[in-house]
This record gives sequence, structure tokens and C-alpha cells, in this order.
Amino acid sequence: MEQKRVYLDNSATTKVAPEVIETMQPYFGEIYGNPSSFHYFGRQAKTVIDKSRVEIAELINACPEEIFFTGCGTESDNIAIFGLLNAYGGKGHIITTRIEHHAVLYPCRHLEEVGYEVTYLDVDKDGVISIEDFKKAVRGNTILVTIMHANNEVGSIQPIEAIADEIKKINENVKNKIYFHTDAVQTAGKLRLDVKKLDVDMLAMSAHKFNGPKGIGVLYVKKGVKIYPVMFGGHHESGLRPGTENIASIVGCAKAFEIANAAIKENEKHTLHLREKLKKGILETIPEVSINASGIRSVSNILNVSFNYIEGEALLLMLDMKGIAVSTGSACASGSSETSHVLSSMRVDPVAAQGAIRFSFGHYNREEDVDYVLEVLPKVVSDLRLMSPVWNQKQ
Ligand code: PLP
Repeated sequence: MEQKRVYLDNSATTKVAPEVIETMQPYFGEIYGNPSSFHYFGRQAKTVIDKSRVEIAELINACPEEIFFTGCGTESDNIAIFGLLNAYGGKGHIITTRIEHHAVLYPCRHLEEVGYEVTYLDVDKDGVISIEDFKKAVRGNTILVTIMHANNEVGSIQPIEAIADEIKKINENVKNKIYFHTDAVQTAGKLRLDVKKLDVDMLAMSAHKFNGPKGIGVLYVKKGVKIYPVMFGGHHESGLRPGTENIASIVGCAKAFEIANAAIKENEKHTLHLREKLKKGILETIPEVSINASGIRSVSNILNVSFNYIEGEALLLMLDMKGIAVSTGSACASGSSETSHVLSSMRVDPVAAQGAIRFSFGHYNREEDVDYVLEVLPKVVSDLRLMSPVWNQKQ
């Protein structure tokens, strides 16, 4: 019998929507010109890129000239961070958080190595930074603040508007402005993004997180903010990101973003219902579990649960054998399992952090998916605990 499959790893990536595939199809065969070419074929391709740019700009309340297509969310983050620092020069101070995705955390660590000073803000037990901590961290030479919108492991949402407000006040009295970047990869298509309301200078998104294709990212850069390219070549994307444009993916990204935005409320309700059903079921049937970042400031589709006395990696593998795809809160580094930097920063007990699993929901999940997990999970957890000496001693 074929293995039943349940995909609960939508924060890692999502299935491309069939309407998106259909929209992309002509750009693999019929419409193939290089958008930089002056002839008919080139103009045809250029027109669709411009149209996609306008569509995405409208959805985030930006101007088309403020939208740049990149290769992924990681690239958008890197261009924003290095591009801004290269443009403004000097070796200043950067403020970020301890729970950023590696696409921001590692650039910051690298910048420390080359002489920048970096402050990593702590988060509370719900995975949220404090505005007071942020205000205390600001220095005379602070040049860049990079704080994610929602965290990819636990779903906590940062107070972006409040931080922007503080930056605005500080900028009124200083010669060297502070610039604000946010990694919105986990909120694009899930929360309504309005760059004017968020009041950020730069914002990163990635299409494969909202049922779009992989290999296409978007970077918003506010008009007037100087940013240098980090790669050099052609004049594509106003010279910020050289390389022949990935037309099919650009069109797919715009279509996926349009669909996701049109269904934001409906998807939020849907994923919240599934998440709460799973949470309730787990808490009712499995002892010694805790929910990580269970505060109200979180996206609706992520549930991060610690199962004490077992290894998250082992649980992931056992669930995979039963056809359930989830992810762990820990990154596997050279064969040894490393505790998640996000859970450590939230001061989750190390034993609980080792047994953390992320369930992340999406548009295509159904109620039966949760029923299946609740049918399988209690036994898998109890079987794994039987192999734990600490658990057995406790019994
Ligand atoms: N930022 C966050 C918060 C993410 O969750 C991810 C992907 O998991 C990225 C950045 C990187 O995006 P991409 O996979 O498109 O490079």
C-alpha cells in the first residue's frame, strides 16, 4: 500500500499553486526573449517583468522603482545588508536579534569579523524583542538595524512599526541616519505588508514561501536609500542585481503573491484552526510537552512544540517513516545535533529545546492531516521515550 503523506513543513517551502504553474508555462517556450534585447522578443519579455513589478509594488504599497527581483530571500537579505553598508561606508554599528534566520545572522557575524560592531538583541519567552532593549542598544555610530518580521522556527512577530517609530525619532536629531531592514520572508503572503505603515527602508521576501516558485526573491528598497550592488555585471534591475532575469519565476512570483494576498484572511483562519486543533490534541494526549512562543504575537501557521526526553531529530525521522513531514528546531551541524539558536535565545530549557519540532501549515493542508498526526504522534513519542534512560528512571 502506498504510504500516506502529510506535509507540515510549509515554513521550509510550499507547493507551487497550479494557477501559478499555468501562468508561468508560456515563459518556458513561447515567450523566451531576453528582456535586455531591443527587438520584439526582448520587448515582450521586458513588458511582463515590468507588469509583475507593478503588481508586487501595489500589493505592498510601494512604487515599481522600489522593487528589485533577486534569486531568493537569502540574496535579498544579503543585498540589503552589504549593499547598504557599502553605499554608506565606514565601519559602523549594526543592531539585529539573536533569532534571525542565518540569511541575516551569518552576514552579521561576517561583518563583525571585518570590523563592524554588532549588537544581538535578546528575545523574551515568546520570542519577541523589547523596545527598551532596542533603545538602549542604539549608539552614535549605529548605521543599520536588521530585524526579522516573523521568526521561521517559532513564528513570533517583532514590533517592526514600533522600532521604525523609534528610528524615526532618533533620525530627526542625528547627522548619520539609521537604516532599517526587515526580513519578511515568513510574513509575505501571510500578513498584509504595507511598507509605508511598517516604515522600513528595505524589506526581503521569497516566492517559494507563498506557493510561488523557488529561486526568486524580492527586495524592496525605499526611494532615496542608497544601496550598492554586491555583484557586478549587466545593468539588470537598475544595476542592483546583474544577470538575465528569470522571467518565468518573476511572473510566477507576482501571480503567487496576488493569490496569497487575496486569500490572506481566509488562509489565516484556516491555518489557525488547524494549528489550534493540533495543539489541543497534543496537549490532551501527550504528557511532558510544552509550546514554544505561544504568545499572541505570532503568525497563524507555525506550531513549535517541545517533547521532553526525546531528540527532535529522532522524532522527525520516525514521523517521516509514517509519512509526516515536519522540521526540527535544531540544525544538524556536521552530524551532531546543535540546539536551536532561537530556542536558546528564548531560554527554553536545553532538554526541551532538543526535543523541539516545528509543524507549519499552509493553504493545501486539510483537517484530515491533523487527524492523521494525532493518530500517529502519541505512539511515536511514547515509543521513543521508552528508549530514553532519563524518562524510564522517572516512571
Ligand atoms: N529568512 C527567513 C526568515 C526564512 O525563513 C528563509 C527561508 O527559510 C530565508 C530568509 C531564506 O529564504 P530563501 O530560501 O528564499 O533563500
